[in-house]
Amino acid sequence: MKRSALARHSASKYAATLFALFSLLSSTHGIYAAPKPNVIVIYADDLGYGDLACFGHPTIKTPALDQMAAEGMKFTQFYSAAPVCTPSRAALMTGRYPIRSGMCSDKRRVLFPNSGGGIPASEVTLAEALKAAGYQTACVGKWHLGHLPQFLPTSNGFDSYFGIPYSNDMDRIADRKLGRSIFLKPEVKYWNVPLMRDQEIVEQPADQTTITKRYTEGTIKLIQQYKKQPFFIYLAHNMPHVPLFRSKEFQDQSRRGLYGDVIEEIDWSVGQILEELKTQGLDQNTIVWFCSDNGPWLIFNEQGGSAGLLRDGKGSTWEGGMREPTLAWWPGHIPSGSVSQELGSTLDIYTTSIKLAGGNVPTDRVVDGVDLTPVLLEGGNSPREIMAYYRGTKLMALRKGPWKAHFITKPAYGNEPFQEHNPPVLYHLEHDPSEKYDVAKNHPNVIKELKAAAEQFQKTVKPVPSQLEIPLPN
Ligand code: MG
Repeated sequence: MKRSALARHSASKYAATLFALFSLLSSTHGIYAAPKPNVIVIYADDLGYGDLACFGHPTIKTPALDQMAAEGMKFTQFYSAAPVCTPSRAALMTGRYPIRSGMCSDKRRVLFPNSGGGIPASEVTLAEALKAAGYQTACVGKWHLGHLPQFLPTSNGFDSYFGIPYSNDMDRIADRKLGRSIFLKPEVKYWNVPLMRDQEIVEQPADQTTITKRYTEGTIKLIQQYKKQPFFIYLAHNMPHVPLFRSKEFQDQSRRGLYGDVIEEIDWSVGQILEELKTQGLDQNTIVWFCSDNGPWLIFNEQGGSAGLLRDGKGSTWEGGMREPTLAWWPGHIPSGSVSQELGSTLDIYTTSIKLAGGNVPTDRVVDGVDLTPVLLEGGNSPREIMAYYRGTKLMALRKGPWKAHFITKPAYGNEPFQEHNPPVLYHLEHDPSEKYDVAKNHPNVIKELKAAAEQFQKTVKPVPSQLEIPLPN
């Protein structure tokens, strides 16, 4: 090799070594900001903890979600922040317990078509925070945080919206005398629910038989349209909230019957989305969450799902009401096939997403979400210390570590009164996930600690007017 060529060779070798060193330093010390990951949150409605094959269901097939778990992380102790739709969604969108935003009530548990309230403009939604960090944002599916123009997704940080703005069993026009029988063989015409694009109604009643399919197609189009810049897509399925609908291809396919058909279509949807991300080369740069807003609606018998080994379901502050089958997927970042038994909450999806985006978590108010990045990337410990279980405005129970104290209990539905407990009922959730064995007597110190934690938490809560009790203006 000639001298000059040799010099060039060693110079380039030297440069390569330097570059490698610098890259190593950058990746460990964050000298270079990592590219902002896209964020997709897929939120099912009333899906139970035990309704996916990867969470132990014996007859519902969920190959795409099972694969998502195999390529990502499965959370076994992950909570929504309320046992019913509206407050749960408010928590996901704001990172705050709904008691702080007024998105809960003891009189009306969720928003209805005759409600005039919605998510207050003063809240910083996840879409607003990500938009400020340079993201394109879209909401597809069920919103349920107010259907008047000022409350819709497009007024709350989303560039576009396509979906049914509240629950799919509202605007019922079927004869009341038929009672719940219409849920056994539901027909589209029984519920006059609107389907909206941005702020316009484009179909009414929405054809719910194709709703899961259309939400999926809409999401895939957005991925294709958004692929060059960071994006956030919030896909909130209306299913499997009753009435249950699925498209033709999924009719009578599942051994679990109608409910199984519906879950299998959602599973198909997840598969389509992950596949599209891979096709577009976006999989290594997109974090996808799968979760549910609350537990299964057990009063609908076979039309409702299953909380597996957890007690009770939707509407209650027993574990079945709020612990959700949760997956996080981000190939190349989240170790594949990992299972986290750490505490997590949909509140944390807010904070974690904003942190990953390099955005700003509001500092002028209490934010209850914590950053789960160390759990996701390194299987580390969760910074989440407590979980508060609210029913409306009442703090019913509190979890700290493995312990859960119920201060008040009440079955999910029905007229049984609130029952106060002093001392509280105490369960060790890791020994007794089904909340069967009250061990309060043996652990007075734990009770003391949980009571103190509840008091300390409640000191941070300032009363605000309920948005759920505001009637529609005339
Ligand atoms: Mg729900």
